[in-house]
Amino acid sequence: MKTFDLILRGGTLVTSEDEQIADIGIADGRIASLDREISGNARQEVSATGLHIFPGVIDSHVHFNEPGRADWEGIETGSRALAAGGGTLFFDMPLNAHPPTIDAASFDEKLQAAQSKSLVDFAFWGGLVPDNLDHLEELGERGVIGFKAFMADSGVEDFPRVDDRTLRAGMKRVAKLGGLVAVHAESQTITSELAQQAGARGQTSVRDYLDSRPIHAELDAVGRALEMAAETGCALHIVHVSCGAGMALVASAQKQGLDVTCETCPHYLALTENDMLQLGAIAKCAPPLRSRPAQDALWEFVKSGQVTTIGSDHSPSPPEMKTDENFFKVWGGISGGQLTLPLLLTEGYVKRRLALWRIAALTSFNVAERFGLPETKGRIAVGADADLGLVDLSQSFVVRAEGLWHRHPHSPYAGRALTGRVVRTILRGQTVFHDGKMVSPPLGRLVKPLKL
Ligand SMILES: [Zn+2]
Repeated sequence: MKTFDLILRGGTLVTSEDEQIADIGIADGRIASLDREISGNARQEVSATGLHIFPGVIDSHVHFNEPGRADWEGIETGSRALAAGGGTLFFDMPLNAHPPTIDAASFDEKLQAAQSKSLVDFAFWGGLVPDNLDHLEELGERGVIGFKAFMADSGVEDFPRVDDRTLRAGMKRVAKLGGLVAVHAESQTITSELAQQAGARGQTSVRDYLDSRPIHAELDAVGRALEMAAETGCALHIVHVSCGAGMALVASAQKQGLDVTCETCPHYLALTENDMLQLGAIAKCAPPLRSRPAQDALWEFVKSGQVTTIGSDHSPSPPEMKTDENFFKVWGGISGGQLTLPLLLTEGYVKRRLALWRIAALTSFNVAERFGLPETKGRIAVGADADLGLVDLSQSFVVRAEGLWHRHPHSPYAGRALTGRVVRTILRGQTVFHDGKMVSPPLGRLVKPLKL
């Protein structure tokens, strides 16, 4: 008879294809058995009857700002917020750390910080900036998940945007390495010109900011990035596509055979520009929140499976960076990493009949597949790491600061009722979060893609 470390009994497993009730037997951090009823001994048994078991959320887009700006968030607080939301792996962006992650030395610094502090597994994006083309290869060797470039100003001085010539050159190099480039796609020309005009007129309100970053500025940059992907053969991932029109461009490029995928974020699906107008700084992001019709069109792409991944773009700052009278000067970034699953369950599953398996695919399986993670990540299957989020769909909760685990617990969702409470998060077989408490030391490990 088999012996397990843990058996989860009677939960509804949500895989990237369907849902079924089964027991999960876990041994040595891996899923050792999946069966309607597992017989065998276990050191611990947990009843999951009535709960849905999701593959642990893989958040492919967070800004934890460490080393160098841990006062903005930090790996310890950021990773615990993810764990509280059913997350088991994050990909940290390269720009807000100081030094930014643009060469081997800065990668090593970040690795050292994360190894001792992260409650969940982690991977790192490398930066693609104007002066680091000769460092892309060493970043690839270190195991970055991909290379991130900004087509518009990043908001961080030591992480400059790329012009088209640099981006094209970078994509050529990354294509040779067999890697992937992700772009923040907004036109610098259009957005800076509109911002300058508004500034000259003394217009600095939320509305003025929204008007300075129109959808056509996003489409312009997406279009150019797609052209460069076609030209260079580089795999491309467009992060935080904010509207249906952006998705349509990506979808038509896919039809032409381009290796391009896209991400959107919960805030583009749960909030509109009216929320930014009402909430102000706490809901500022770039690209900005869009109109209801643009959001409706985005949802259609989510429901049809044409959106590849959903990442939180958790991008916090200290509250004092959110207070400027001039809305253009306020730090742009939404703190949402803990709430990805409840937001998708509420806005998707409950309100729009988005299938649960689709949510599992968007937040886990698709991410693992697109970024070439080892087969042990992103699935509920025998042999996979036991990375799991147990969710009670019968429970609703109101988002309150005291329930948020990131460093500065402000949230544009404060006061909202969400469906789907994460009751337990399991990382490689170990419970890291249970019933509102962190219950393990930092166990996170670096995950590298197989491809690069
Ligand atoms: Zn971001």
